[in-house]
Amino acid sequence: MNINVTRSSLPPFEEYIEEIRKLWESHWLTNMGIEHKTLQAELEQFLECPHVVLYTNGHLALENVIAAMGFPAGSEVITTPFTFASTTHAIVRNGLIPVFCDVERIKEIADRYGLKVIYDAAHAFAVKYKGVPSANFGDASMFSFHATKVFNTIEGGCVCFKDDALVSTMNDMKNFGIRGTERVVFVGGNAKMSEFQAAMGLCNLRHINEELAKRKAVMERYFSHLSGVEGIKLCPPQKDVEPNYAYFPVVFDGFGADRDEVFQKLKENDIGARKYFYPITNSFECYADLPTAGAEKTPVAKYLADRVLTLPMYADLALEDVDRICEIILSLKK
Ligand SMILES: *Cc1c(COP(=O)(O)O)cnc(C)c1O
Repeated sequence: MNINVTRSSLPPFEEYIEEIRKLWESHWLTNMGIEHKTLQAELEQFLECPHVVLYTNGHLALENVIAAMGFPAGSEVITTPFTFASTTHAIVRNGLIPVFCDVERIKEIADRYGLKVIYDAAHAFAVKYKGVPSANFGDASMFSFHATKVFNTIEGGCVCFKDDALVSTMNDMKNFGIRGTERVVFVGGNAKMSEFQAAMGLCNLRHINEELAKRKAVMERYFSHLSGVEGIKLCPPQKDVEPNYAYFPVVFDGFGADRDEVFQKLKENDIGARKYFYPITNSFECYADLPTAGAEKTPVAKYLADRVLTLPMYADLALEDVDRICEIILSLKK
């Protein structure tokens, strides 16, 4: 059987049908209907954050929150290259200039110079630090609800923040800058979440705790096989962090087989691991002209990108399949 790096979570079919039945009654399919309103309220509660604004995807949520901050054109934005293309693209598409820094240094710089921090928290849904949900850090956080993420609305995303003044700006921006019915206050785009997406979110949110528990069991099974193996580095549990078991990244260094050989061997066995994140965004050809381009300028990020492999991880991954994946990897040990 083919095992992919991730598999979308779906609620029971009848549950979704029941949820969307009301759309056939109302004929209200998008533009902040009842499903959208309910999901927003439930997420504000779940994420323990005063303001959640829903979007049709995480990328546009990120583009919009950067725009809403109103940085002057050409401003520099300090960012990590060890991320998905979306993070860097969202900066550049706003007419701003990314300045790549190495991993684990951003909060320190921001505190020292009093800068705004926007988190691409795409992967961090349901994560807590010292009991505080991840939506509460920095000036704003973006979450992705893409089909491959821990919590999905098919496509979707949101921005979370505390600043009351940002609410109407964020809401206007995703709807052409239209405020009320007769005023257009921004050159906004269209990034609204539809009722069908929100309905999927409402269903998936009811099952999120089971999902997390199943992912935890998968993670523990991986650890039971791979921890302590020479040349394999796992992400250890982080102090004070309640994780969401979104991914299972492994760094191969001095294992015998290198990352690409492990990737290839798994592929031959119909197991799809992914090189997350590789290549890093400062080595993208579309960014070759940036002053801070070049993977060699961020050696820690480059080191990780060259050696990391993200193994299959999803709630319904059978523990026997985890055993088999680990057996294949360990057969390559020198
Ligand atoms: C998934 C993801 C995004 C983009 O989210 P979409 O909902 O797919 O638009 C942005 N940043 C990171 C790190 C992601 O993983």
